[in-house]
Amino acid sequence: MKITFTKDAGPEALARVRAALPGARLSRVAAGAEARLPRPSAAGLLAPLLENIPGVASVSLSDAELCPLACARGDKSFSSPLDFKSKKPVFIAGPCAVEDEELYLASALALKAAGAHALRAALFKPRSSPYAFQGVGWPGLRIIAKAKKLTGLPLVTEAVDTRQVGRLAAVCDVLQIGARNMRNYELLKEAARSGRAVLLKRGMRATLREWLLSAEYLLKYGARRLALCERGDSLSLPGHPVLDLDLLRAVKKISGLPVLADPSHASRDRQLAAALAVKALRAGADGLLMEASLDPLRAKVDGRQTVTVETFKTIAGKFLCKPRI
Ligand code: PEP
Ligand code: MN
Repeated sequence: MKITFTKDAGPEALARVRAALPGARLSRVAAGAEARLPRPSAAGLLAPLLENIPGVASVSLSDAELCPLACARGDKSFSSPLDFKSKKPVFIAGPCAVEDEELYLASALALKAAGAHALRAALFKPRSSPYAFQGVGWPGLRIIAKAKKLTGLPLVTEAVDTRQVGRLAAVCDVLQIGARNMRNYELLKEAARSGRAVLLKRGMRATLREWLLSAEYLLKYGARRLALCERGDSLSLPGHPVLDLDLLRAVKKISGLPVLADPSHASRDRQLAAALAVKALRAGADGLLMEASLDPLRAKVDGRQTVTVETFKTIAGKFLCKPRI
C-alpha cells in the first residue's frame, strides 16, 4: 500500500497514518510512505480511512492487495468440465441463444464433430432493448439437457439473475456471467456459491482492475473453477472490432487464470469474427467462446456475427492438436 502525502503535510500526518495501521511496517519513500500490512486483505477497508487523514493526498493498492485471491500465484487452470490443462485451446461454440429445438440439436452435434468442447446454451438473453428477443427461458432447459445427453458436451449458460442460478446450475456445467453483469456483485456471489465452474466476461469498458475485482468476488465466495473471457467494448465503429488483446494477456499474466476470447460480440460480423478468432488465439487466448450454428440466417439474435459450422471447423482445425498416428 502506497500512501502519498500532500506537499504541505507535516509530521502529524505520518503519525496519524501510523496510528491507523497498527502492526504495519512503514517505510518512507519519495513523496510518502509504503506500508506492509499484517493482513493484506484489510487494505481495501483501510485505504478510504487513510484518505480521510489531512495531509494524505492518495492511497494506492497493488493488484495483490486489492485482489489477493485472483492474483495468488500457482496454476489456476482446471481440467473439468473444460480441459484447460491440456495444451489445445478450448472451444465453446453454439448459437447466441437457444431457439428452435431441432436446429439447436443438429448444430450441437455438428459443432461437436467440428471440434467444439462445450456448447453455448443460453436460455436468457440480456438485451439492450426490452422489445428484442429475450431468450426462450425455462422451457429451453429441456432442450439443452437433451443436447448435453446427445453430444456429451458440457453446457455453458448465462445466468442474468440470482434467482436463476440454482435451477441452471442443476443442469449446466459452467455458469456464464455476461458483460452487463460483471458488476452485479450479488449475482457473482450466488454463482460462486453454486459450486459450478464460472466464466466471467469483462464488462463493457471495464478496466483490468474492475475485472480482477469481479474475479475476486467469485473466488472469495467459493468459486473453485474460474475462467475469464474478453469480449471487447461496445463503442467500436462498424468494421473496427475492439477485442482488447493486450488486456487479455495482462489479466492472464496477473491472475494465472485461463482467459478465453469472444470474437463474436467484439465484431458483430461473421467474417470479422472468424478473423478475430484466429488473431485472439495467436495472441495467447486459451480458447474461444464463439457464436456458431448450422443456419445463422435463421437466428433471432446475433445472426450476422454467427459463423457457420464450416467456418468454425476451419478455425478449430488450425489450432486443435492433431491426433498422432
Ligand atoms: C453472450 O455471450 O451471450 C453475451 C450476451 O455476451 P456479452 O455478455 O458479452 O454481451
Ligand atoms: Mn450474442
